[in-house]
Amino acid sequence: MTETRTGAGLAERLHGTAVMAVDADWDMARQAYNLTVDQRPEVVAFPSDADDVARAVRFARDEGMQVAAQRTGHGAAAMGSLEGTLLLNTRGLGGVEIDADARTARVGAGVRWLDLVPQASDMGLAALHGSAPDICVVGYSLGGGLGFYARKLGLAANSIAAIELVNAEGEQIRVDADHEPELFWAMRGGGGNFGIVTALELELTPLEAVYAGAFFFDYARSSEVLRAWREWIEDKPEELLSIGRMLKFPPLPEVPEPMRGNSFGVIEAVYMGDEAEGAELIKRCATWGPPWTPSLRCRRPGSSSCTWTRPSRCPTTPSTCS
Ligand SMILES: Cc1cc2nc3c(=O)[nH]c(=O)nc-3n(C[C@H](O)[C@H](O)[C@H](O)COP(=O)(O)OP(=O)(O)OC[C@H]3O[C@@H](n4cnc5c(N)ncnc54)[C@H](O)[C@@H]3O)c2cc1C
Repeated sequence: MTETRTGAGLAERLHGTAVMAVDADWDMARQAYNLTVDQRPEVVAFPSDADDVARAVRFARDEGMQVAAQRTGHGAAAMGSLEGTLLLNTRGLGGVEIDADARTARVGAGVRWLDLVPQASDMGLAALHGSAPDICVVGYSLGGGLGFYARKLGLAANSIAAIELVNAEGEQIRVDADHEPELFWAMRGGGGNFGIVTALELELTPLEAVYAGAFFFDYARSSEVLRAWREWIEDKPEELLSIGRMLKFPPLPEVPEPMRGNSFGVIEAVYMGDEAEGAELIKRCATWGPPWTPSLRCRRPGSSSCTWTRPSRCPTTPSTCS
């Protein structure tokens, strides 16, 4: 192939930046959140807006390169080899616009849940986020998105009202139920295979607070506790989502005691309702104790992803709404 296949010349075409192997910041530019993945694309582009994304896609098209989109790199392992690929990092495409009356949000492709959820929550609205605040709204939602409210409200992909993307020709288009409906259908769950998304419009749901937290049990009792949990969860209402698991924390200094280096049986619960109802529904879990403190309390939607408050021995009574 020709020399331009290396990505040389891309930086001059963008308002943002492009980084290649010869550049000093190459290792930082190609690094994903998942540090076990050694990404080696031809060039990494950091577009500053949707026009820049279109320029990068047209450049790749002209040079016969593949294009892959990434924001955080949480899903980097699934990308495979990036040989001959222009890796397009969307972190420069910020912007959160919430229309509280219409209950919608428009987010740029670089927006993470932590950028959107607190703002929506201030307006009494919730997006269908998942467990990690630093995951990108776009990557999560295109892939389906199974979050804490999924039993009641479904997958995040189904809350997408419109998608702004750059297609393989480098054209900027907007797809929704009336414009390119088949492409709209395919993208909601089909992942990032059909174009580079520059922004999403999402439907939001009225939700003031959730009752949420986690029970930590001695690891040796995990099997017994998880069996009881499996039976208990069977007939619970759709407003309650609970996760049971065995969890081992690494012996790293940044992990607080008593979690550091230790293993637990864990039951998380998130209830889309008030404290009294939530406490009544979930109180059975405390009887499988002695648990480490149940950190259950009323929270703003989104802080439910912080069911990982530091546990300490003993209490079985949920604390009051704060
Ligand atoms: C700690 C942790 C917790 C998680 N919790 C949940 C959870 O509760 N529920 C759940 O459903 N999933 C969960 N996941 C999985 C997560 O939703 C996926 O890994 C998701 O793909 C991450 O999206 P990202 O954009 O942050 O990652 P990236 O690796 O940057 O992107 C992932 C993929 O999304 C596509 N993509 C990203 N941006 C674009 C774009 N602009 N245009 C086109 N395609 C794009 C690409 O195909 C890319 O390969 C979790 C993952 C982690 C690491």
